[in-house]
Amino acid sequence: MADLWVEVDLDAVKYNYRQVVSILTAGCQVMAVVKGDGYGLGAVEVAKALQEEGCQAFAVTTVTEALTLREHGIEDTILVLGPSGPQDWAEAIMAGIQLTVSQLEWIIILEKMAAENNIQVKIQLKVETGMGRTGFKEDMIDDLVNSLSNAPHIVIEGAYTHFARAAQQDHTYTRVQNDRYLSFLLKLDNLGVKVPQRHVCNSAAFLDYPQYHYDMVRIGTLIGGHFPSASFRDKLELQDPWSAKAKIVHVQQVPKGTPVGYQSIYKSKTDTTLAVIAVGYADGFGVDPRFVPQGIVDLGKIIIKNIAALWRIQLGQERILFKGKSIKIAGKVGMQLTVIDVGKIECCRGDEVQIPLRRTLANPRIPRFYKKNNEYFRIRIIKEGFLSFNTEYANLTNS
Ligand SMILES: *Cc1c(COP(=O)(O)O)cnc(C)c1O
Repeated sequence: MADLWVEVDLDAVKYNYRQVVSILTAGCQVMAVVKGDGYGLGAVEVAKALQEEGCQAFAVTTVTEALTLREHGIEDTILVLGPSGPQDWAEAIMAGIQLTVSQLEWIIILEKMAAENNIQVKIQLKVETGMGRTGFKEDMIDDLVNSLSNAPHIVIEGAYTHFARAAQQDHTYTRVQNDRYLSFLLKLDNLGVKVPQRHVCNSAAFLDYPQYHYDMVRIGTLIGGHFPSASFRDKLELQDPWSAKAKIVHVQQVPKGTPVGYQSIYKSKTDTTLAVIAVGYADGFGVDPRFVPQGIVDLGKIIIKNIAALWRIQLGQERILFKGKSIKIAGKVGMQLTVIDVGKIECCRGDEVQIPLRRTLANPRIPRFYKKNNEYFRIRIIKEGFLSFNTEYANLTNS
């Protein structure tokens, strides 16, 4: 058994999916977004669990991610959201993967590929309404319709846009984006281009704009048990499928004033017990993204957090959990070792602690144990860097 591992509760993922479906507008479908290796939970495992709940559409960013799902038996709709390139298209279209098209030249190249192989290619059009990343703008419609009329092998499955500020309180920008999207579709329709699937909502928009659910919603964050921001917490009840755990690998009693770790930035305030856990920044632990303030109040919070951090006081951050109690990290997090100050709590080598490890940063090398339908299984990682590659299941007898 490893000293550091992750447990992923797929029953919680399934629960979250059912919660989403319970407030979905009638006649609308959920496309589960499983990009970023299923938001760190494991794309293949999450997709399979959601299939059991009746989910039939999945989205990822790259063709590689889409092919990984196909190789593992996901036969349903898979949409590639990100801009892809001609080097990936042959494989994608042979595997029946839907591509997002956001540039005119792509239609010509795709049509040529499809004609040569004598197959139909399913695409979704990306409409640029204010995200400023990719997509067709309204002034490109005439050229777009022109290109499409010369592309008999291309089938339009849908058209979508992506909101930039749906998680914010102010709804103005999202409404503008939605208006631009609808006006784009209206022009397409007037020019004879039919769009079967219309979709605009991510998790935040799904919760705040039920009138925009249209034919489909694209949900990632909520399925993973997270909220787009704290203000959404009372809108849905979700379960957290993720827990990272480490074993205590060393214990020592020390007197008051003992310096700990690099640069001795921590000194024990009393006689205490120090424990070492085998986790560090090489595992993605203690590496936090740099937060850019979203306004003056936010800036204040960030400044206060940083000042508090000078005295090793962690504000608004999850602590290490040991025997149900919250424990301080003592000193700097190392490459693969971290010291915790357990105080008066009784503690032995081999005891387990729960650690706040961000799922998208967790090194895929860390072993994972999955729970589904109340059974536990483990995934063996054969190819590093891609968790869901070559998975092999070995049932654990109730670990
Ligand atoms: C990531 C993504 C989503 C899902 O967003 P969540 O807020 O995580 O639900 C939807 N659409 C697009 C285009 C995305 O890139």
